[in-house]
Amino acid sequence: MADRTERQAQATIHAGGAWRTAVSGATREILDPADARPFAVVAEGDEKDAERAVAAARQAFDQGPWPHTPVAERAALLRRVADLLVRDREELGLLESRDAGKTVEEGRVDITCVADAFRYFADLVAAEAPGRVVDAGSPDIHSVVVHEPVGVCALITPWNYPLLQASWKIAPALAAGNTFVIKPSEITPMTTIALIELLTEAGLPAGVANLVTGPGHTVGARLAEHPDVDLVSFTGGLASGTKVAQAAAPTVKKVALELGGKNPNVVFADACATEEDFDTAVDQALNAAFIHSGQVCSAGARLIVEESVRDRFVAELARRAQRIRLGRGTEDGVECGPLVSEQQRAKVEAYVASALAEGAVLRCGGKRPEPADTRPESGYFYEPTVLDACHREMRVVREEVFGPVLTVETFRTEEEAVFLANDTEYGLAGAVWTSDPGKARRVAARLRHGTVWINDFHPYLPQAEWGGFGRSGTGRELGPAGLAEYRETKHVYQNLAPKPVRWFAG
Ligand code: NAD
Repeated sequence: MADRTERQAQATIHAGGAWRTAVSGATREILDPADARPFAVVAEGDEKDAERAVAAARQAFDQGPWPHTPVAERAALLRRVADLLVRDREELGLLESRDAGKTVEEGRVDITCVADAFRYFADLVAAEAPGRVVDAGSPDIHSVVVHEPVGVCALITPWNYPLLQASWKIAPALAAGNTFVIKPSEITPMTTIALIELLTEAGLPAGVANLVTGPGHTVGARLAEHPDVDLVSFTGGLASGTKVAQAAAPTVKKVALELGGKNPNVVFADACATEEDFDTAVDQALNAAFIHSGQVCSAGARLIVEESVRDRFVAELARRAQRIRLGRGTEDGVECGPLVSEQQRAKVEAYVASALAEGAVLRCGGKRPEPADTRPESGYFYEPTVLDACHREMRVVREEVFGPVLTVETFRTEEEAVFLANDTEYGLAGAVWTSDPGKARRVAARLRHGTVWINDFHPYLPQAEWGGFGRSGTGRELGPAGLAEYRETKHVYQNLAPKPVRWFAG
């Protein structure tokens, strides 16, 4: 890995098949959130670098072989990429862990999921019919509906699942025959840089895959507004997402937004009837809220629990949350890493302070680990926090905290549970826990969220669409709809026996 980080130093912008430094010569240090120390240096691109990368992607789309490469060859390339990801899984998992602060085991799981995404989209396009013949009602007419790539895609990704989010965009974009410019989060670009190297190794033609490292307000904003970009697919926060949609509007490019969530985890008392069921529901609520220190768009950050089991449930949850082992993600036995940055931790601290001021009751956490070390080199750690006695008006219940903070609300009736679960401007994901299959189906049917889990939390499948209702976004990733985002649909109508129509007499 030292080789890779060293080789990439400062020449991390990929345009037209070449690795380059930023036009301005600027660089950025990439910090390990476990000790706030730099472990790599990358190019800090700006609008000029975005221009160069878009020009390369445009040329590769307009002149290159990729959009017209037979589907079987495109699929074969994606499968080679998946094999290379599996080959480099240890190295990439470690890099993801250092960059994003997650445990190495989570990093490894991420890389496996990344490889799965490439395989899934390879299989999906390879199995498709080349077009849909439409019955035009005449033997003289041959009418077919085909799918074509959209063109140049701008792909903008966040820091919490750097390579996974990139793969949900890159794999379908390539499968469909597009060229792209990706802009990873400026604080976690390392594995995306590595993926571009793997795409080249797998044989992708120059100019198809381009990458600009740099900030959102310069590189990202220019990509979103650029007239030569045909589609922008963005994953990140609501505030940045609305800016991207506004920047993209004047050129009427296709826009897909995968934004935040404030995801309810609804637990009915009947899901806790036996000791075993109780243990499962608590364990999964813990996982829902605290995996990757809660920096997950689909984190189950709102526990909505039936009043009759609340005391026991919350007591056990807090007991276990206190025992979560924090530490550097590369250390053995560590269960949760730090938050990704000082800025992110400060945001979490402000939300907890506002919740306590609004009357929430702290059951555990609510502070940095002891000794409360404020030196930067102690890393951006924050204890898993359970806030009891929360209510729907509180900021901490309404807004996305994106940290290890779980709020607790209670309900008495099924109706009230559904109301609370839907009482959010977001609509990304939610879960219902019950031993009553009828109730499970009824509640699931009424939840206004893009993914609903019944007696589970967090799993996703590459075959199933992922995305949000409401302000969690527009469009879908994964599944057939995740491929359709990267395509135009064209109707080709061929008249095999043309004759004058004589609509006009003259
Ligand atoms: P963010 O919005 O700050 O940044 C996301 C990306 O957008 C980064 O690459 C950033 O540089 C870029 N960006 C920022 N401002 C921009 C602008 N004006 N124009 C263009 N690009 C801009 O988000 P983040 O803090 O990196 O990530 C956390 C957020 O991502 C959370 O809200 C989380 O819920 C969301 N997220 C959603 C999903 C999903 O599938 N729905 C998945 C992961 C993360």
